[in-house]
Amino acid sequence: MTETNPFPAEALPDLPDADFYAFEDLLSDPEKDKLAQLRRFLAAEVLPHAGTWWNEARFPAELLPKLAELDLSTPVQQGHSPLFAGLVIAEMTRADTSLATFFMVHHDLFVEALHAFGSEEQKARLLEDARALRITGAFALTEPEHGSDVAGGMATTAVRDGDTWVLNGAKRWIGNGTFCDYMVLWALEPETGRTRGFLLNANLPGVTRTRIENKTALRTVQNADIFLDNVRVPAADLLAGVESFDDTKQLLRGSRIMVGWQAVGAQLAAFDVARAYAVERLQFGRPLASFQLIQQQLVQILGNAVASTGMLARVTELEHGGYAGGKVSGGMARAALAKSYASARMRESVALGRSILGGNGIVTDYRMAKIFADAEAIYTYEGTYEINTLIVGRDVTGVSALR
Ligand SMILES: Cc1cc2nc3c(=O)[nH]c(=O)nc-3n(C[C@H](O)[C@H](O)[C@H](O)COP(=O)(O)OP(=O)(O)OC[C@H]3O[C@@H](n4cnc5c(N)ncnc54)[C@H](O)[C@@H]3O)c2cc1C
Repeated sequence: MTETNPFPAEALPDLPDADFYAFEDLLSDPEKDKLAQLRRFLAAEVLPHAGTWWNEARFPAELLPKLAELDLSTPVQQGHSPLFAGLVIAEMTRADTSLATFFMVHHDLFVEALHAFGSEEQKARLLEDARALRITGAFALTEPEHGSDVAGGMATTAVRDGDTWVLNGAKRWIGNGTFCDYMVLWALEPETGRTRGFLLNANLPGVTRTRIENKTALRTVQNADIFLDNVRVPAADLLAGVESFDDTKQLLRGSRIMVGWQAVGAQLAAFDVARAYAVERLQFGRPLASFQLIQQQLVQILGNAVASTGMLARVTELEHGGYAGGKVSGGMARAALAKSYASARMRESVALGRSILGGNGIVTDYRMAKIFADAEAIYTYEGTYEINTLIVGRDVTGVSALR
C-alpha cells in the first residue's frame, strides 16, 4: 500500500491492501510512481466529488485538463507494460466507474481507432489533440434495434456521393455522445455490404444528439441517442484503414479486456468500502468484522478480486505479446472469457459489499450504492455476459449458438 492510497483501507494502516497478491509490484518503478500520481489525483480531485456528480448526473468537464496532465493515454503505445495499462483502468474504476468509462471510450476506442485505422492526414490533424483531451471522442456502434446482434444487423447506412459520404440511421447508448467533438461511427455500405468507419464531426448538419435520461448506472457518463439524417461526411473523414467488421472487432477485443479491468476495479472498491465499514460499524456491541459470516463475505470479495486480477493480467499480456505458441484459443475468445468471468465475479462481489453496508448500502453517500449500481453497466457493455459466454462456448465446442 502506498502512502498516497486514497481508499478507506488507508485508515486501517495495519491491514493489507485489496491488491492481496501484490500485482502492482510487477510494475517498473516509473510505472509505480505514475500509478501513485494517479492515486493522488483521484484522492484529491475525484473521490470527494464523484458521488455528487453521479447524483446530479453531471459530467465534470472541468477535470479534463488535469486528467490530461497525467499523460495516461494509450499506455502501451507509449511504451508502458500491458499490466500498467490495465491497472490504470482498475485504479480509476476503484475511485469512480464513470470517470474510467469516459476515459476508456475516449482513449481505448476513439484514440485507438484513429491510431489503428486513420490516415496519416487524419492522425496529423487529430491524434495529438485527442491524446491531450483537447478534443473528445466517442464510439458509435450500437443501434436502437441492434445491440448484441449489431455485427450482422447494422441498419445505419453510408452511401458515397461524389466527395462526400451520406449517412442515415440511428445509434444508441453512445458514451460521451452529448458533448464529444468527434465520434468513430460505424455504418454499412448497402451496395457492397461492407462495414465502413467514419471520423464523424459531431456538429455536422443532420446529426442530432439526445441525452439518455434517468439512468440507474453510470449517471455521470453522458450517453446519447444519435440520429443521422442525410449527414454529409467529407470523404477525407472516412477511416480508410477499415476493411471490414473484423477491424471493428479488433478494437472491441482490446477494449473488452479493459472493461474486464473495470470489473477488477469495482471489486477492489467493493472490498475497500465493505472492509472499512465492517471494521468500524458496531452491532451487538462488536464490530461487524468480528462476525464469521461477515468475514466469509469479505474473503469471498477478496478472492473474486484476486482471481479476476490474475486472469486479466495474463490475458492483457497475451493480447499485447501477440502470443502465437501452443494450442490456445483465439484472442477474441480469451478476451470474452476474461470479461464474462470477471464481470460475473464482480456482480457477486458488489452484491456482497452492498449487503455488508446494510441499509447504508443503498445510499450513495457511503459509496457502495454507486459501486453496486455502476457494476450493472459493466456487466452489459462491451458484449453482455451472455454474449461473451457464447463467444467462448463457440470457441471451445466448435459450434456457434449465436447463428
Ligand atoms: C451504460 C452503457 C454505455 C454504453 N456505451 C456504448 C458506447 O459508447 N458505444 C456503443 O456503441 N454502445 C454502447 N453501449 C451499448 C452496449 O454495448 C449494449 O447495451 C450491449 O451490446 C447490449 O445490447 P442491448 O442493450 O441492445 O441488449 P440486447 O442485445 O437487446 O440484449 C438483451 C438481453 O438479451 C441477451 N441476449 C441477446 N442475444 C442473445 C443470445 N443470442 N443468446 C442469449 N442471450 C442473448 C443479452 O445478453 C441481454 O441480456 C453502452 C451500453 C450501456 C448500458
